[in-house]
Amino acid sequence: MADIKTGAVVIGAGPGGYVCAIRLAQLGIDTVCVEKEYMGGVCLNVGCIPSKALITASKTVAKTQSAKAMGITIKGVSVDMKAMQKWKGGIVKKLTGGVGQLLKGNGVKNVMGTATLTSRNTVQVTGSDGAITNISANAIVIATGSRPLQIPGFEFDNKHILDSTGGLALDALPKHLVVIGGGYIGLELGGTYARLGSKVTVVEMMPQLLPGFDMDIVRPVQRKLKKADADILLEHKALGWSKKGKRLVCSVEDSSGAKKDIACDKILVTVGRRPNSENLGLAALGVKVERGFITVDDQLKTNVPGVYAIGDVAGNPMLAHKAMMEGEVVAEVIAGKNVAFDCVVPAIVFTSPEVAVVGMTAKEAKDQGIEVLTGKYPFAGLGRAMTTGETDGFVRVIVAKEGHAILGAQIVGPQASDLIAEAGFAVEMGAVADDIGLTIHSHPTLSEAFMEATKAAVGEAVHLINR
Ligand code: FAD
Repeated sequence: MADIKTGAVVIGAGPGGYVCAIRLAQLGIDTVCVEKEYMGGVCLNVGCIPSKALITASKTVAKTQSAKAMGITIKGVSVDMKAMQKWKGGIVKKLTGGVGQLLKGNGVKNVMGTATLTSRNTVQVTGSDGAITNISANAIVIATGSRPLQIPGFEFDNKHILDSTGGLALDALPKHLVVIGGGYIGLELGGTYARLGSKVTVVEMMPQLLPGFDMDIVRPVQRKLKKADADILLEHKALGWSKKGKRLVCSVEDSSGAKKDIACDKILVTVGRRPNSENLGLAALGVKVERGFITVDDQLKTNVPGVYAIGDVAGNPMLAHKAMMEGEVVAEVIAGKNVAFDCVVPAIVFTSPEVAVVGMTAKEAKDQGIEVLTGKYPFAGLGRAMTTGETDGFVRVIVAKEGHAILGAQIVGPQASDLIAEAGFAVEMGAVADDIGLTIHSHPTLSEAFMEATKAAVGEAVHLINR
């Protein structure tokens, strides 16, 4: 391909990169988006979307079992993993094709190949056939994402030892799956296979699942996992594995040093992700990188003028919606607008029940010297939750004592992933408790739980005894 001269070049077509490229083009900047593997990045191909497809399929199986309480007995439920994978693949294909069309429709030029920075305004792209294209641009946006972290003794082969990509691609149910790492990806995938019928053992080094989340949020998830017959080994370290006939043995050790062997069929390792910042030519250019993450300011600028970074490669939280928003913000910055990334980033765990948090916890607020009021509403008290048969969990809202501004919310329960949007909006716009109380929340809906929790914080809940 002939060399290209353009306004901006974006490296990576994941949720950060493709959104950035589209927004740049919308702002009138001639833009090229380079991608080496797949349009839509990890998120659409081997992350958010395929995992949510399998999670939903597995929850459908679980619903056939819980329907008994509603007077419905469903017999002969079977799982065809090959058909499920085909269905999942269809969704991925549709969405990734859509990304290509959106880029094209907005006038973004797409170049397939591996990009390296050769100067602060040139990128060299090597295609799969070895052909080289040099792109010169006024602005370079690095959106190269992240990949699964490997641990010694458990090198990924995606046959016996699976990374998250391998864990999403199984076309047969393992009889016994060991999941190393009880964070969000481990519990989303572990829970999925437990609901589909595998025996699952979760091995977590820390004393709790979902480290970083409050224990009262984690407890309902842990209970449900146990109900699905999963074994949870906290404060256990995975030591290594071996083959025994057709099966595997995973060796673990508890905090006292006692060792145990678990016979299993597959081992899924979900202990974190590492940023893709190597092999980009960053050191030669003097781009600052810390623990693998490219250092950026609140305008997503690196220390090298004209070079920007967004998404997973630019730091935590490694979430698609944070990458997308950074993509939009950096496009505006490149277009000359004086904006910055200062958004609250919700975090969601698609377990059963779901977990979703946004803004501050009560402790975080107190640590900042803010006095708070807390309101909590249990789904067990909510009519709509009862009619869906999903009453585990609660909504907690954190409100500033002075002025009643909504500072944050934590939800564990049905549709927490959707319910958190209202809380995020409230925090972002600086809403006060009265704004939520004066908004009619349709009845009967799960959204009433957020309203009741907010009102409870200021002692005005109607469907709860105020304390
Ligand atoms: P990526 O999506 O990683 O995209 C980077 C792209 O850059 C890739 O396509 C890669 O091929 C390309 N690239 C890399 N290097 C080069 C190069 N040198 N030249 C050209 N191209 C290059 N997040 C959520 O918000 N919600 C979820 O529910 C969720 N679920 C997840 C489930 C799983 C199993 C996993 C693994 C992740 C999940 N995530 C979720 C995280 C989410 O996928 C990432 O945060 C998101 O994809 C990051 O977007 P990104 O654009 O920064 O990078």
